[in-house]
Amino acid sequence: MLLSIVLPVYNEQEVLPALFNALPPVLERIGWDYELIFIDDGSRDSTRSLLNAAASADERVKVLAFSRNFGQQAAITAGLDFANGDAVVVMDADLQDPPELLETMIEQFKLGFDVVSTQKMTRDGESVFKKATATAFYSFMRKAVDERLPPEVGDFRLFSRGAVQAIRKFREQHRFMRGLVAWLGLRESIVRFHRPARAAGETKYPPWKLVKLAWTAISSFSAMPLRICLTAGLLLTAFGIAYSIYAVYAAIFVSTTAPGWSSLVCFQLLFNGATLTAVGLVGDYVGRIYDESKQRPLYVLGDSVNIEASGCANRVVWINPPDAMAGLPPHPFRESAQPAREHTPSHLPMKRAA
Ligand code: UDP
Ligand code: MG
Repeated sequence: MLLSIVLPVYNEQEVLPALFNALPPVLERIGWDYELIFIDDGSRDSTRSLLNAAASADERVKVLAFSRNFGQQAAITAGLDFANGDAVVVMDADLQDPPELLETMIEQFKLGFDVVSTQKMTRDGESVFKKATATAFYSFMRKAVDERLPPEVGDFRLFSRGAVQAIRKFREQHRFMRGLVAWLGLRESIVRFHRPARAAGETKYPPWKLVKLAWTAISSFSAMPLRICLTAGLLLTAFGIAYSIYAVYAAIFVSTTAPGWSSLVCFQLLFNGATLTAVGLVGDYVGRIYDESKQRPLYVLGDSVNIEASGCANRVVWINPPDAMAGLPPHPFRESAQPAREHTPSHLPMKRAA
């Protein structure tokens, strides 16, 4: 059996040495063949040279280097695209996803689950703001977007080969992996754990990035914000009609129109604000439709080390592809335009790319 570990990394030079020490002992205990697929998400520190050094020392260490920062969700997508394993685990590189948990996850996988998710019981080393917003986010997502989203379950998960093949078919631009997994309806087992603080380095998720991810999560799985606007618009219109009737009545029978100036201004502002918010929301959704219609690739690879995945060659945009793929003619990006991909799990010696 082959276990693939997918690790997105972005400016993680401080933590990589600890990761290289922590992972192998656990993987040896599991006893399967394994591959570590690092996706360098456009790091600007010495992450890349650390990864290259590890890859030249051990062919099981593979590196996919993005041409720029495409984000963690795109990096996970690339890792799943190139993983050959019978089971594939996605985990953070900062040791907040404890490698020791892999053994329990594999046990659950052997019971026949498509996905083994991990649920955070506690979170160490995170700000009060992050904990509070995370709790609010999970409960909002469950109530408003998809009740199948388990609370406190992040991207640290094990997928069966079948689940990976299913996920690969989804090529939407604005990606929220957890939403995809819930939507697919995979047979899921949940393992609970205490999430430690980062082993080293800083979080790569400042508050604005968290808000962006939350909005992607909501807008890619729900049109509810648009429905809220519609409802609010209808309520405001009903209120406007009722108030107009009252204004006409007051002008004719009570003669108190002049003092109404301040309320007029208030309502004007209120309605304009509501209208602009609704137009802005619609604009955001239209913008997302525009992004999808361009059918751009989800990520662009600069180069790679120890990667031999010719099945992906037709749809991955690769600036410096490995020798074996360099001569292939260009193809459209979308998988639907391609023959079905076959990923043969193999532990054959991996060829080193230039
Ligand atoms: N990451 C990435 N691209 C980004 C941001 C983060 O590949 O644009 C990686 C990062 O290197 C780490 C994982 O995603 O391996 C989770 O990031 P981080 O630990 O900073 O998030 P947090 O645990 O603070 O939510
Ligand atoms: Mg982290």
